[in-house]
Amino acid sequence: MSNKHFDLVVIGSGPGGYIAALKAAERGASTAIIERHPFYGGTCLNWGCIPSKALLATAELSHEIGHAKEMGLDLTGEVTVNWTRVQKRKDKILTKLRGGIKGLLAARKVVGYQGLGVLDGEGRVVITNDDGSAKETITTDRVILATGSTPVRIPGWPTDTNFVCTSDESLHWDTLPKKLLIVGGGVIGCEFACMLQPFGVDVTIVEMMPKLLPGMDGSLADELAKVFKSRGIKCLLSTRVEDMGIKDDAVNVRFGDGNSDTFDRVLVAVGRRPATSGIGLDTVGIKLNDRGFIETDDTLLTARKKYYAIGDANGKCLLAHAASAHGVSAVESALGHPRAFDSPIPFAVYTFPEVAGVGLTHEEAHARGIPISVGLFPLGHLGKAMAVGDT
Ligand code: NAD
Repeated sequence: MSNKHFDLVVIGSGPGGYIAALKAAERGASTAIIERHPFYGGTCLNWGCIPSKALLATAELSHEIGHAKEMGLDLTGEVTVNWTRVQKRKDKILTKLRGGIKGLLAARKVVGYQGLGVLDGEGRVVITNDDGSAKETITTDRVILATGSTPVRIPGWPTDTNFVCTSDESLHWDTLPKKLLIVGGGVIGCEFACMLQPFGVDVTIVEMMPKLLPGMDGSLADELAKVFKSRGIKCLLSTRVEDMGIKDDAVNVRFGDGNSDTFDRVLVAVGRRPATSGIGLDTVGIKLNDRGFIETDDTLLTARKKYYAIGDANGKCLLAHAASAHGVSAVESALGHPRAFDSPIPFAVYTFPEVAGVGLTHEEAHARGIPISVGLFPLGHLGKAMAVGDT
């Protein structure tokens, strides 16, 4: 037991939490950050944006090499994938960045605690071990909850992650599958398909909605579907997975259209759910919405005064850069300068070509009766696109 007291405690060290902690310390608040894992960075650095970008960079290079001849290069010899080296390169980047965050927090005198941060009534936070036993209790005037989210796993589907896994495991695979089914053609499904196909993986995406990237501009999804088709990535749209089972070291999948197929591995990418259970929210009266995310107002304040929720945990926008922006906003609010967070947040899907947007899609504008005009410019007519051989 200790009686350390802080002006502000941040729970979770992803791009929401560590940016909030740095900001609070910069503003002169005595600040602590609690992280359950033995390293900083959360999903973005350890199971998301950064490892996926590292793997994508190798995949894109491999894809480019495939077009060397048309760019005027004659390559002799075979290009083969050394997956162990691809993984090692990625791991080196993660290690360096984890150290970078640690250094930044130390430089601003943010006190770090390793363990699960659990609220324990007004102004108290217990840091617990994995078995739930208390390590230490600290007190604080303000709390920022930045506990993030975890991938959705479908109940009833096999739980052996060597066969049926989520993005958490797939970014750190020891070996590549030969034939992969990706369930969900959303952001993660499309990014992983694009990343894995150049490594020689036979990829199929199954998406229950009629288009890839549902919720984004439909014409962008149509273009992406054409690109995927040209690369041999199969897309089963308007198709559900009925069930799946493991037999003879393979996954047998039955689809809603009556067809079945067998895959070495399945990646489930059907969304993420908030990491909000077991952290004592009820001890201070913090409310969840009907999707299980922490309910906040525009200033990211929860139902409890001086307790804020940012990033994936509040469900407003599951993007790393949104979490960081929330972090800055919540610190300003917590330290006495309430600020509504109402900026439009741009997004980018890291396929190649990339898909990006900001604000309403034209479908959403139509639905709200907002008159719009649509401008289109085909990449096939664009000088830069022709010059780099990517129309
Ligand atoms: P998502 O919501 O983007 O996509 C999930 C997809 O799965 C949807 O298209 C949905 O229709 C489909 N689906 C759901 N159940 C299904 C089923 N049983 N069978 C077939 N299809 C099914 O979720 P995600 O791709 O898992 O990503 C999770 C979150 O992470 C998203 O909020 C995303 O924005 C975020 N993310 C963002 C980036 C980025 O910005 N570049 C990268 C990765 C993740």
